[in-house]
Amino acid sequence: MFDRNGKDDSSYNVDNYTFVKEHSPKVGELIQKEYERQQHNIELIASENYCSEAILAACGSCLSWKYAEGYPTNRHSGNESRYYGGTKYVDELEEYCCDEWRKVFHTDYHVNVQPHSGSQANFAAYKSVLKPGDTILAMSLDNGGHLSHGSSVNFSGKLYNCVFYDVDENGRIDMEDVKKKARQYRPNLILAGASAYSRIIDFKAFSEIAKEYGAYFMVDMAHIAGLIAAGEHPTPFGYADIITTTTHKTLRGPRGGMIFCKKELAKKVDSAVFPYAQGGPLMHIIAGKAICAEEAQTPEYKAYIHQVVVNCKAFCDEFLKLGYKVVTGGTDNHVFLIDLSDHKFSGKDLQDALDEVGITLNKNAVPGDKRPPKKTSGVRVGTAPMTTRGFKEEDFRKTARRIDEVVRRLDKEFAE
Ligand SMILES: *Cc1c(COP(=O)(O)O)cnc(C)c1O
Repeated sequence: MFDRNGKDDSSYNVDNYTFVKEHSPKVGELIQKEYERQQHNIELIASENYCSEAILAACGSCLSWKYAEGYPTNRHSGNESRYYGGTKYVDELEEYCCDEWRKVFHTDYHVNVQPHSGSQANFAAYKSVLKPGDTILAMSLDNGGHLSHGSSVNFSGKLYNCVFYDVDENGRIDMEDVKKKARQYRPNLILAGASAYSRIIDFKAFSEIAKEYGAYFMVDMAHIAGLIAAGEHPTPFGYADIITTTTHKTLRGPRGGMIFCKKELAKKVDSAVFPYAQGGPLMHIIAGKAICAEEAQTPEYKAYIHQVVVNCKAFCDEFLKLGYKVVTGGTDNHVFLIDLSDHKFSGKDLQDALDEVGITLNKNAVPGDKRPPKKTSGVRVGTAPMTTRGFKEEDFRKTARRIDEVVRRLDKEFAE
């Protein structure tokens, strides 16, 4: 694999896809091709990362064969248990996983590690405190929020009455507008968290507004969870009633979701995950999540996240030096948005042109975008995956200059 943490484990994936190929030439070949694409391309997608070989192995283990609907016994009152026998070891594993995650975030919040993804976690989190038709105040998709924060094409926008706070003229969350909308709409839940927002989020200020208007306060830390774990972003623990996350972004774990909540909401959250939203938990992924929690407590991980942030500042700085517009004018975390609205080509055009030269990123709407969502006027870049592959500041500056060459070519092409 990559020279991740200074060691070469190139045998792991090669052995695995060779093994699959012998059984299924078609699937094995596609895994191999994707593996090679991932190794050769420069990956700038802010929501992706490369987990460790141990996590991959746990996720491909015999735990995938085990049914364990329910929760380990004695989780709350002693009444809960699994609906299947043979759960001795997976019970211990799930409890261990929960304990490790509480250690990662230095918290005594209740934690549910069963959600299959970030969207599933949000689905269950809303259900635990809201009724259909209740009002959620969140950040809209076009300002940097997530699909599951009230987009009209998503369950959230269909089941709930979703209203949105705005960003100011610099692209930063407008806390005055949050207050104004809370007063105007009296939401049942206020949601903070985003998929394309490059600045620190003031959880304390959000929680005060939620308290003033009697709303639940929820944080979706899917993108910044790794930064929070490493102390590079202020924590929502202590402020939020419910916190959801993914484990595969900056946390660098398996693909999955989790929910943390204040103890008084534990039963509601658990029953919203199972039996309401899901059936059997993915015990192999829960094993991966447990290893991810162990890794997130190491000094190496803290150093990694620090480098992610340092790299992001350098990457952003190089774009600013080259004359680009960046939403909010900079970054405090692992991600930023390049605003291309002054160019004749769209975010989609740049995404496609970069794909051809082995640079992977995604088009993204910028605040006030005039182009449709399938085109957009921006691109989103993040430094988490390439930092795992050993990139330092100068590597990112060089990448910015390579992207700039492609932009200049497109400028010429679209001027004709
Ligand atoms: C990525 C993301 C999610 C959803 O994660 P999936 O695992 O893709 O469902 C939810 N919320 C935010 C803020 C995200 O960035």
